[in-house]
Amino acid sequence: MVLYDSTRGGNEGIASAEAIKKGISPNGGLYVPRDFEKLTIDEIVTLKDMTYQERAVTVLKRFLDDFTIDELKDCVSKAYNNKKFTSPDIVPVKRLNDSLSILELWHGPTCAFKDMALQILPHFLVKAMEKTGEQSEIVILVATSGDTGKAALEGFADVEGTKIIVFFPHEGVSEVQKYQMITQAGGNVKVVAVKGNFDDTQTGVKRIFTDSQLIEKINRKNLKFSSANSINWGRLVPQIVYYFSAYADLLKANSIKPGDKINFVVPTGNFGNILAGFYAKKMGLPVNKLICASNDNNVLTDFIRTGIYDRRRQFVKTISPSMDILISSNLERLLYELSDHDSQKVSDWMKQLNEQGYYKVDTELIEKIQETFWADWSDQEETLKTIECIYKDYNYVSDTHTAVGVDVYDKYVITTGDLTSTVTLSTASPFKFNQSVCKALFNDDETDNKNEFELLELLSRKTGWPVPEGLKDLDKKEILHTEVCEKENMKALVENILL
Ligand SMILES: *Cc1c(COP(=O)(O)O)cnc(C)c1O
Repeated sequence: MVLYDSTRGGNEGIASAEAIKKGISPNGGLYVPRDFEKLTIDEIVTLKDMTYQERAVTVLKRFLDDFTIDELKDCVSKAYNNKKFTSPDIVPVKRLNDSLSILELWHGPTCAFKDMALQILPHFLVKAMEKTGEQSEIVILVATSGDTGKAALEGFADVEGTKIIVFFPHEGVSEVQKYQMITQAGGNVKVVAVKGNFDDTQTGVKRIFTDSQLIEKINRKNLKFSSANSINWGRLVPQIVYYFSAYADLLKANSIKPGDKINFVVPTGNFGNILAGFYAKKMGLPVNKLICASNDNNVLTDFIRTGIYDRRRQFVKTISPSMDILISSNLERLLYELSDHDSQKVSDWMKQLNEQGYYKVDTELIEKIQETFWADWSDQEETLKTIECIYKDYNYVSDTHTAVGVDVYDKYVITTGDLTSTVTLSTASPFKFNQSVCKALFNDDETDNKNEFELLELLSRKTGWPVPEGLKDLDKKEILHTEVCEKENMKALVENILL
């Protein structure tokens, strides 16, 4: 059986159901698989003729081997079906030119890639509760920079045996994102705006998760905290699937031959999405480089180039807000994997980050990281310019996050001359960040004085792309959540809701 340990030590050796239920280890570390089976090239070739659902089961069973195949099939079919996803391929690959394709991860109900994980996580959790004989109700706490919140709400609303509380930074999300959340229906949902940025919000939630007194209090009420943030292994593992799926689709299109290595470009903030690519590689997927694309909050670019992670810098609010992050939680898992599971070192670095705001890893480790990862960033001018170029050159409408990826890809090719087949992960529908997309594509006199909801219509009319179902008529829905809280009061508010 695959055993899961905390990145901060203790050799817990728990099964995946237990790791998913707990979300984070009691010692503050993240769960990672001690070891897992690889897929051979022949097995990867067989993915070619499978549906996305079949590909998902094939990959997931290597990690969640305490779940039966029927349980996995059940979770997969509840999550990835044509009621929830508007594309029959679930994650279609669109070819832009000979070397560059786009993997569209936003055909789910909230129009962003977080649906890929959050449509299936609630089903994993419910099964995990059954399997571990859990009687108490699960309370999901989420800190969101915009997309996670809505995706988690869509995933958990009215799922029996769960409650969900979502915190979002008061002025850190787009109007569309805000309306998606504050209009969320469901008997078990609560949505709260926090006066602070995403890091404040995430830090607040982490504090609540590790507050032993509060945990004891809610346990007495037969409630248990769990996380839907990308620190939960159940969030990360479904993301490994689409790396294999993209590879299988390139094989199917004869763009590559079995065993050919490809690059992936990943617009990332929390290091979750790109880490899933790392696990795909470790699992046997032929990957040349994983290209880490950041916006002005380029803490990861600096880290991958120098080995110094330093969050002591100005936080920039950008047009790709879902990547406005200075603490990339999932990086901890990579450090653990590439330092040969040295939990002592990982704990020390995380302690230093927490107390002093930076850490520096050993030369040997950063060289290992650079064997697989390459990093650069795109400023906001460049991002807008890229949206314009992609539209002109390929008639393809890209959102701001995806454009960060494509711009960094251009920089990669210019710097390295590497023309290996490359897939850029597209993490949001352009309609979700329509203000910036319209600004990039149209003249001021066409967009002036239009709100985000009018811009949705404009973008659709001018490009011929339909407004996605999940974003239609949002401003006409009833507002159900109006609470705003100080960042210091998040814990009190949770107590208030639950006790
Ligand atoms: C969350 C998000 C990202 C960043 O994902 P990570 O898990 O932080 O790597 C990128 N783009 C969009 C649209 C997102 O919602």
